[in-house]
Amino acid sequence: MRLWVFNVSLIKFFKSLGISEKKPDENLELSKREEDFKERDDLNIEVAKRREKNYKELDVEKIQIVATLDDCTCDICGNNDLKILSIDENQIGVNSPPFHLNCRCTTVPYIEDMQDWGGMRAARDENGKHINVSGKMTYSKWKKAIGQIRKHKILLEQGNITQEEFDKKKKRLLGI
Ligand SMILES: [Zn+2]
Repeated sequence: MRLWVFNVSLIKFFKSLGISEKKPDENLELSKREEDFKERDDLNIEVAKRREKNYKELDVEKIQIVATLDDCTCDICGNNDLKILSIDENQIGVNSPPFHLNCRCTTVPYIEDMQDWGGMRAARDENGKHINVSGKMTYSKWKKAIGQIRKHKILLEQGNITQEEFDKKKKRLLGI
C-alpha cells in the first residue's frame, strides 16, 4: 500500500514537470540555436535538481539512468543507460544526467522489489518507428539488435529471406 501511494505521487510529480522535446530549427542563426540549447540545458539541470530533491523527500535510495533508445543517442549516454546509482552518489552532470548539452537522458527511481514486473520501455525500430521493448534491454543491446535487423533487412530486400523470416528475426532480436 505504501509503495503504491509512493508510486502514484511520483507519477504525479513527473507528469507535473510536463517537459516536452524541443527541436532546434535548422533555419535559425547558429548563435540563436546555441542560445536555445543553453536554455534547454538550464531547464534540464533544473529538472534534474527538482527530481533529486523529490527523490530525497520520498526516501528513494537508488535511481536508474534511462537513455533514449534511438539513433541520436551518443556513446556517453548509451554507456550510462540503465546504470544504477545510490542517491548519495548522484552528481548531476557528472555521473547523472544531463551529461551534455541537449541531453535527453533521465532518471527513474530504482525499486529492487519491482525488478521482475516485466515492464516495457519505449524504443525505435530500424525505421525509426516507435516500439516497446523489454524494460531490461540496455542501449548497447538495443544498438546491436538494430544493427542485426538492418543486415537482415538487406537480405530481405535482396530476396534472400522472406518477410515472415525477417519479422520473426526482428521480434527475436528485440525480444518482443
Ligand atoms: Zn543523455
